[in-house]
Amino acid sequence: MSVCLRLCFLSCALLVFYSSCSFGQKVNYDRYRLLKVTPTTDYQLDAVYALHRRFKDELDFWLHTPTTDQSAYVTVKPTIYREFTEQLDFLKMPYELLLNDIGEEIASDRVSKEERKKLGFFEVYRTMDEIYEFITNLTKKYPNCASIVNIGTSFEDRPLRVIRISTDPEQLKPKPMVWIQSGMHAREQIGPAVATYLASKIAALCRKGGATRKLIQKFDWYILPILNPDGYEYAQNYDRLWRKTRSRQVFTKCVGVDPNRNFGFQFGDGNNGSSSEPCSNNYAGYRPLSEPETRAVVVYMTTIVRDRMELFLDFHSFSQKWLTPYGYTITLPQHYEDQVYLARIATKAIQKYNGTKYTIGTSSHSLYPVNGGARDWAYHVMLGTHSYVVELPDQGQYGFILPRRFIYPTATETWVGVRAMALELIDLMSMDGYASN
Ligand SMILES: [Zn+2]
Repeated sequence: MSVCLRLCFLSCALLVFYSSCSFGQKVNYDRYRLLKVTPTTDYQLDAVYALHRRFKDELDFWLHTPTTDQSAYVTVKPTIYREFTEQLDFLKMPYELLLNDIGEEIASDRVSKEERKKLGFFEVYRTMDEIYEFITNLTKKYPNCASIVNIGTSFEDRPLRVIRISTDPEQLKPKPMVWIQSGMHAREQIGPAVATYLASKIAALCRKGGATRKLIQKFDWYILPILNPDGYEYAQNYDRLWRKTRSRQVFTKCVGVDPNRNFGFQFGDGNNGSSSEPCSNNYAGYRPLSEPETRAVVVYMTTIVRDRMELFLDFHSFSQKWLTPYGYTITLPQHYEDQVYLARIATKAIQKYNGTKYTIGTSSHSLYPVNGGARDWAYHVMLGTHSYVVELPDQGQYGFILPRRFIYPTATETWVGVRAMALELIDLMSMDGYASN
């Protein structure tokens, strides 16, 4: 019996409060619609929040809008669509229907088992096993340079695997490090695909000459493609729009914690940027590092990082934003200008490569407040001056259900950006007086 089933059995037997044992049920999003809502006045902005409170269970805000110059992206349950749009019309609120049937969009992007085998690796959203096999094959291809590190297991006992790429595999003289992670939020499936692609490009430098080889001569690279493998698998098999981990909470039917609210720096922080409500998509957990996934990352990084964190990249989606610290406060950090400078190198390179535009700023100014997040922790506790959350494409047309045809272009352009910023960082580090922290 799997750990998951054992836990469910035990929980159901022992806790009358625990009523959710809904394993194996696929969540249906047929006729759910995606709307872009753009308040133009403060009154309309307040009304968006009021509607969110009123239709709490029927609306899913993929992206909220903190100001009147930005749009909210919200999915609407078919049962309230008419009532909701009537309210928007009454308020004279501009809105646009982006997707008429989310269930149909999800279904149309699925591929059969036979078709899957014929497709290139980055032409379809891969399973956890496929991603782990891919990075393991990289270590076989580049045995003197790439290795797999198991840093722990998830709540449901799935392995958490990091691929380390270094010209010093024994780590006799550890170099400045780059940490890349993705897959915190289950439905943001483009992240693990991009991180896996980056691993392939960085590992390929092991055999390459040329200017870019210095990326592995100067840095040790650590890439954790799927931080939340339980959620990742659950999103692929049962609920494409699942966000959190899959940990079972005592005394609530709601499952999971938002791992990007579960880190130990500014955890909870008066609920400004997270929630203490277990059913919320932003539930921070009952304590910092309550989740085995976040704990594994923190324990491992605390052991290996010491003073050598130079670049921290946490890939999410969507909105095309290269986000700097902080998330928990609007106060700008000491290194804000340096952080923006390097982010600009990445985003300019991407725009030059294929026109994709990113905006840059702190999470608290550009997106929404986030407390207990990994990026602020990496910056403040691990002293990684250049710590970013990257919200990958798109800008909302498909949001979390970005069709698989966008995987390869997104991965290649992101590599162009990461490569440019890492090369620039090497130049900066060689300058007199450079101190990363
Ligand atoms: Zn995310």
